[in-house]
Amino acid sequence: MDRYLIESPHEAEDCDAIIKEIHAAGYLHHFEWGCHDGDHCGWAIIETDNREHAKQIVPWRVREKARIVKLEKFGSTSKTHSKK
Ligand SMILES: [Zn+2]
Repeated sequence: MDRYLIESPHEAEDCDAIIKEIHAAGYLHHFEWGCHDGDHCGWAIIETDNREHAKQIVPWRVREKARIVKLEKFGSTSKTHSKK
């Protein structure tokens, strides 16, 4: 399984709607939110083999603004980002 970071910025007026949609999709417990700190954005780390699947979790109204980033860990003996 790959792990993907979902970063989902949104406008204040979209908050309630997108949180409801993510709840309905069953992913609300994955997300943490900056809304009450004045940064209207949600973050989640999702395990999936499919980048498109990660993107589908984001409600359509803010999907185009979402960033999906595949995550990996670097160990001390593994290759770093400088060596592909
Ligand atoms: Zn918000």
